[in-house]
Amino acid sequence: MSPDDLLTQLRKWGVKFAEYKNWRTHSRDRATGKAWGPVNGFMVHHTGSDSRDQRALLRGGVAGLPGPLSHFGLAQDGTVHLIGWGRANHAGMGDPDVLAAVRSEDYGAYPPADNQATVDGNDCFYGVEIWYSGSHEMTKAQYTALRKLSAAICDFHKWTAKSVIGHGEWGSPGKWDPGMAPGRMMDMAKVRADIEATLSGQADKPEDKPKPPADRPDKMLAVSGFLPELRHGDRGWYVGWLQRNLARFLPAVKVTSVYDDATAKAVHAFYAQELDYKTTTAGKVFGADGWRRVLSIKSKADGTD
Ligand SMILES: [Zn+2]
Repeated sequence: MSPDDLLTQLRKWGVKFAEYKNWRTHSRDRATGKAWGPVNGFMVHHTGSDSRDQRALLRGGVAGLPGPLSHFGLAQDGTVHLIGWGRANHAGMGDPDVLAAVRSEDYGAYPPADNQATVDGNDCFYGVEIWYSGSHEMTKAQYTALRKLSAAICDFHKWTAKSVIGHGEWGSPGKWDPGMAPGRMMDMAKVRADIEATLSGQADKPEDKPKPPADRPDKMLAVSGFLPELRHGDRGWYVGWLQRNLARFLPAVKVTSVYDDATAKAVHAFYAQELDYKTTTAGKVFGADGWRRVLSIKSKADGTD
């Protein structure tokens, strides 16, 4: 992706961004004699600092580690600062099995164990440094921007969210970024599921856009192993998808994308009919067992696995 392509993608996905100095040509390519790319994935970091302006640090680097230290710096207010383009010192050495899994996007909820550090991730990853310590959660604005920025990149390359990993999944010893508590990395399967939702047009307000492709939850499951528990009162495309599937068993079910009393009644009947199980909540909760049953029936009906 060229710098111009990047700007096009950022605008397309509504990413608030700011250009910093000569970011288009600021890289480590010349100094190392190594060209950047082809790029295979996107790596997420925290800087380890809550300071409000970390542009100069990311541009210039630190003693022993010259900048740029990333392509993107993500500020607390959700602005993506463009720092460099080309090789950047963010990923360091990591695990070839993880790289292969990211390249093929062929893994379960998490990439393989990162127990080697023999390939240079700076050759082949985009990197974002999010401005926070990692010992607490990043701001909401940062998380929303991360989802959009990831979608902008994945969309350009026709990647899924499986091309996005945390530094802590890469194999550089001692890394646990992006963090959410001291020493504790965010659940990247959940992050990938959220990015996948953004990619599919759900952004952060699913209820505004109630028409996903019908097979979306299958893909979500494949990407992350994550499916949300739905409850009475919930609304959004997940609920609509559930209702469409319930309607195959219980034709009276209406697709409203709202988990209302009628939906609860249908869920209760579905559990009784398909799982031989009397719900204790009168169908007001639809959980993992229900999802698994719906998905297994769906895949049998489709003749796929
Ligand atoms: Zn990092």
